[in-house]
Amino acid sequence: MTVAWYDRSHPNDQTGSNRRFRRVIVKAIRFYGQHDVRLDEIDGDLDPGSGEVLIAPTLIGICGTDLHEFESGPIFIPRTPHPYGGAQLPQIIGHEFSAKVVRCGPGVVGLREGQRVSIQPQLGAKNDYFGSRDLCFLGKQSAVVGLTWKWGGMAERAIVPDYCCIPMPDDVTDVQGAMVEPTACAVHAIDRASVRPGSSVLITGAGSIGALATMAAKAAGATRIIVSEVNPNRRRRIEQLAIATAVLDPRSPDFGETVRSFTQEGVGVDAAIECSGNRAAFQNCLDQLRPQGIMVQVGLSGEPFTINTFDLTMRDITLRGSLNYELSMWPRIFEMMRSGLLPAEKLMDDIIPMKDIVEGGFNRLTDPEGASMKILVGVD
Ligand SMILES: [Zn+2]
Repeated sequence: MTVAWYDRSHPNDQTGSNRRFRRVIVKAIRFYGQHDVRLDEIDGDLDPGSGEVLIAPTLIGICGTDLHEFESGPIFIPRTPHPYGGAQLPQIIGHEFSAKVVRCGPGVVGLREGQRVSIQPQLGAKNDYFGSRDLCFLGKQSAVVGLTWKWGGMAERAIVPDYCCIPMPDDVTDVQGAMVEPTACAVHAIDRASVRPGSSVLITGAGSIGALATMAAKAAGATRIIVSEVNPNRRRRIEQLAIATAVLDPRSPDFGETVRSFTQEGVGVDAAIECSGNRAAFQNCLDQLRPQGIMVQVGLSGEPFTINTFDLTMRDITLRGSLNYELSMWPRIFEMMRSGLLPAEKLMDDIIPMKDIVEGGFNRLTDPEGASMKILVGVD
């Protein structure tokens, strides 16, 4: 961040005299459109308003959502100012991050300068149906930092509401703090699937969310965890974690038989977590589920799937979606991380400087044969 002094007459200054003004220039990674992400220097208005906090992001994860925006966006990022969050193109990206508090706006209590925080990026009205139930992201008056809020994590400074800043315990690292958000998504999906000690679970798609769901299933006590993934390099990454009972290529002809061989009397898995958004994976989850099993759809797909409702009824299947997480989940995830129960940091491949975002970040993560799981951007 650079601070420059410059002379200009203030628009409200009637005297016509030149005065010196403080101008803060902030480096920020902004999304302009498909395959167009740039490191910019922007003129920041860095005064936090009432209930807001000025933060200095430290480490920021590149998420699957960011990859979707890069490859075929804008999807979530609005072209015209977002009615609640004020975001518009070009938009500062980054919604998985740790930061330090720089300055608190009026009325902020419980946070202090220099404090390390992990950002919970869902923000919104607190007084409507969903907001009053701490589910603002399901309502219309809401935004997400780094997508539909005017600030994002991949910048030297950002302004967010105070409730987005969750103080980190001393023994949670900045790397872990940057991984709380995706980990919360995975833990929520495992909660939605009612995974219990002794459960058998099929996880389809081993990107970062699938890998974190594998860890979350283990943390919940699952004893048979079968992961399917088409990319052999990612299969190897999952094998190295030494958590999964089996890591399979879903295209192999005996896939279904193999999955069932790991379940009691071959009835099928208790729970299936679909993390790829792929049609064949969706069907694999349903097919490998035991009667009365629970399937949870986490992966986003650009196309509708056809489903056999007769089969759903006859096998008494529960099919659920899974969006985000409980907003109060951060301390629970801190506890899982600091105790070693859920070592999300093992998925980190690299910390790259801001200037390498395209080559070292997006291009590596969108390589269909790549082995990368999670790349963090370090603010210089
Ligand atoms: Zn994300």
